[in-house]
Amino acid sequence: MTEIGEKLNRFLRSARYAEKRAEIEKLVEFDSATAADRLADILAHARDRVPRYRPLQDHANPVLADFPLTRKADLRDRFIDLISRDETGRMEPGHYFIHETSGSTGQPVRLLTTAETGGLSSLVIAERLCRHLGLPDTGTELNLGLHYEGTPLVEAGFLPRPYVRCNLRGFDPSSPSIVETYASVVGAFPVDRIIGTSSRLVGLARYCLDRGIRLRPRAVVASYEHLVEEGRRMVEEAFRCPVTMVYATSETGSAAWECRQGNLHFQDDFVTPELLPYDGDETLRSIVLTGLLTRAMPVIRYVTGDLCSPATACGCGLPGTAVGSLVGRSKATLVGADGLVYSPYALLAALSNAGLADFQVLQERPGILQLIVPDATEEARRCVEHLNRDLASYFREGQGFRLRLAATNTFVLSGRGKRNPVVQRLDVAPGAVEGTGYLRSGVRSPAYAGPVAQSPSVP
Ligand SMILES: [Zn+2]
Repeated sequence: MTEIGEKLNRFLRSARYAEKRAEIEKLVEFDSATAADRLADILAHARDRVPRYRPLQDHANPVLADFPLTRKADLRDRFIDLISRDETGRMEPGHYFIHETSGSTGQPVRLLTTAETGGLSSLVIAERLCRHLGLPDTGTELNLGLHYEGTPLVEAGFLPRPYVRCNLRGFDPSSPSIVETYASVVGAFPVDRIIGTSSRLVGLARYCLDRGIRLRPRAVVASYEHLVEEGRRMVEEAFRCPVTMVYATSETGSAAWECRQGNLHFQDDFVTPELLPYDGDETLRSIVLTGLLTRAMPVIRYVTGDLCSPATACGCGLPGTAVGSLVGRSKATLVGADGLVYSPYALLAALSNAGLADFQVLQERPGILQLIVPDATEEARRCVEHLNRDLASYFREGQGFRLRLAATNTFVLSGRGKRNPVVQRLDVAPGAVEGTGYLRSGVRSPAYAGPVAQSPSVP
C-alpha cells in the first residue's frame, strides 16, 4: 500500500501527469456552445466517412433526425459498415482498440474506438464529477465495480486523479476468499470514495452495518445498475453520505450523473441525449444517445434500452439536459400467464417500498416470477404474500403474474458479473407494448400511476 502511495506521489510530480491533466483541463468546463458544433461536425463526418450513412450523402447539413436509430443488433450485425473510412477506404489514423461488451442482454457487441477520443471524454467526465463531489486531489477508494479476471486487490489509479484503489468483489459469505479479503480490508483504512455497481454497494453497506464498521467516505458513486430506493437508503445510512448515481453505457461511456436534487444531468457537450416517446406512455422516455467525440466508429442515435422520466427544468445550477429519474431497462419485460407483457417497474418499486433492499426477479415461465433474496426471511415471505394479494386484486385467475420466493439464494449474474434486477429467460417479442399500471398501492413515483396500456399478445 505504501509502495503504491509513493508511486502515485511520483506520478503526481511527473511531466506525464502535467501533460495529461492539461488535456483534461482544456475540456473540463461544460461548454454548451461547443456541443452544437461538435454534433454538426460528427454528423457531417458520419455522412462522408461511414458506409452505413451513404444514403445521406446529398444532405448538405444533416441533422440528427435524418439519421436512422442504431440498436444493439445494428452494432453487432453491421460492425464493418459503421467504421469510418476515407475516400480510399482506409481507416482514420490513430491508435485503435476494440472494445467488447457483453451487456445486460447477453449479446456481445464490438465497438471500435481510439485512444485519442474514447478515453479522454470519460476522464474529463470523471474529473467533472470529482469536482462536483469535492473530492481531494489524491486519496483512497474502494472500487466494487466489475473487475476483469486477474485485477489486483490494490493498485494505483492514475487519472483523472491519482488514487490508491482497492478492488473488491461483491460480498459473498459463502466464498472464503472474499470473506477473508473483506475482513482484512474493509475498515482497515479510511477511504475518500466508494464506487461500484449498485448491488455490490448495497452488499458492502449491509456488511458494514452488521459489523458496526464506520466508513466515512466523502462520496459514494453508484453505477451500472438501477439502484432501488430501499438499497439507496441502506447505503446512505451505512456511510452517512449521499449516493450519486452515474449513468453510463458501454457504447457511449459516461453520459450523466445525478445532482443533489436527484435529477440526472446529461453531459451534453460529450453526448447528445434524445428523449423519445416510449410506447405511448406519457410518463416514460426512451434514452437515445449520440457520442460527440468518437470518430473511428461514430455511435449515432444509439437506443440504449434505458427509460427515464421526461426532461425537467432543474434549479440546481448544474448544466445539461436534466431528467427526473432513470426508470430502468426496457429489456426486462415480464410475461403474464395470459401471454401479455408488463413493465417490471411497478413491481420493482413495490418490492423496494416493501422494505427489500436486495433482490432479483427471475422469470422462467409465463405468469410466475421467482424472487431471489439473500436470505429467505420471514420479512421476505410476508412481502411476497402481501404483493400477491395486490396482484390478485388486479389480475384475475389466469392473468398477469404471481410472485414465488425462489428456491435459491444465489443471484443470477451476467457473463461479466453484472447483476440485473430482472432476469428474463423467456423470449419476449421486441417492441411489444407493456402494461404498466397493474400495481398501485405503495408506489410513490408518478411514473407508475399511468393508465393501463392495452397490451397485444406476445406472438
Ligand atoms: Zn440538478
